[in-house]
Amino acid sequence: MQVPLLDLKAQYQTIKEECLEVTREIYESQYFILGPYVEKLEKEIAEYCSAKYAVGVSSGTDALLLSLMAAKIGHGDRVITTPYTFFATAGAVSRVGAIPVFVDIEPDTYNISPEKVDALIKDMPVTERKTLKGLIPVHLYGQCADMNEVSRIAEENNLIVIEDAAQAIGSEYQKKRAGSLGDFGCFSFFPSKNLGGFGDGGIVTTNSEDQYENLKILRVHGGHPKYYHSQIGGNFRLDALQAAIVSIKLKYLDQWTTARQKNARLYKSLITAAGLNSVLTVPFEKENRHIYNQFIIQVAEKRDELKEFLLKNNVGCEIYYPVPLHLQECFADLGYSPGDFPVSEYAAEHTLALPVYPELAVEQIGYVVDQIKKFYA
Ligand SMILES: *Cc1c(COP(=O)(O)O)cnc(C)c1O
Repeated sequence: MQVPLLDLKAQYQTIKEECLEVTREIYESQYFILGPYVEKLEKEIAEYCSAKYAVGVSSGTDALLLSLMAAKIGHGDRVITTPYTFFATAGAVSRVGAIPVFVDIEPDTYNISPEKVDALIKDMPVTERKTLKGLIPVHLYGQCADMNEVSRIAEENNLIVIEDAAQAIGSEYQKKRAGSLGDFGCFSFFPSKNLGGFGDGGIVTTNSEDQYENLKILRVHGGHPKYYHSQIGGNFRLDALQAAIVSIKLKYLDQWTTARQKNARLYKSLITAAGLNSVLTVPFEKENRHIYNQFIIQVAEKRDELKEFLLKNNVGCEIYYPVPLHLQECFADLGYSPGDFPVSEYAAEHTLALPVYPELAVEQIGYVVDQIKKFYA
């Protein structure tokens, strides 16, 4: 049996006609950048995320970059985030000239530990503390970070909160949607995300009308009116083609999310039935709505061998992420060492993502669990 990590072709078959129709329309119009399809998507995503506004951008990475620029976070400022995330989270901070300050994660959810953020700020020298401007919680794998605590810390320290919600469209924290919980919410339409386009794309949500206007100006090089620049922005525009495709997919997103959640439940019950709970840990659902962008297992032993075994038996799997950001070569000058963030380092060495995409068949999930059982037998 073949079980790929993700099968976008299966999903495409279900929406093919709609996609071809809208694509043809856009080709005929020869109107490719921003415009009515982008505006339509912005309204739909704002509503979906219970945020007041949304601004379509060129990628999830650019959503982060643009949010940092809009927040006027720049040279010499410090931004707290987690080292256990996709590179873009901290990369964007460095690209605006600011300094990423890492804080370890919680072992059960893999999200930033508010307790450790408190401890870090308490121990910070006053001069550094003065440069602290932002906090980027990442809603990793599709589950929200502990946003009550994040908001409390932000309020106490006057920090801008930028949610990295690239993996969390539709995730909820105490019944509130990701993207409505901070000053900015950053989403990605990279094809492997739960709501993916046919190329790169992303969106920023905000509840602030001023920031909404500001984001739109910075998206087009900061020109306002056109060709008059009081600020330096960039080209962060979203294509009409991507917006139109994402709009089509958004109609099916809840149905796909339900299928992912069902797959996750099936994994959990089959893993228990197979007696595997002593060798592996399944995802812990702390918040109301985990959207399972990834289904992550943690194994105490032989993670890399398990990965090789599964691949050899046609089960797609991947390590997200093998090197925590504080140990990346490009961040060496930040001065971190192995051992600084033991929970992140342990997760990087012991976790594995299994296929959880909506179109998976029950038999395929059964096959994956059987293969894991075989490996540990
Ligand atoms: C995918 C992702 C991004 C970046 O999104 P792109 O659209 O690929 O630029 C940022 N942060 C996290 C956590 C992601 O998973």
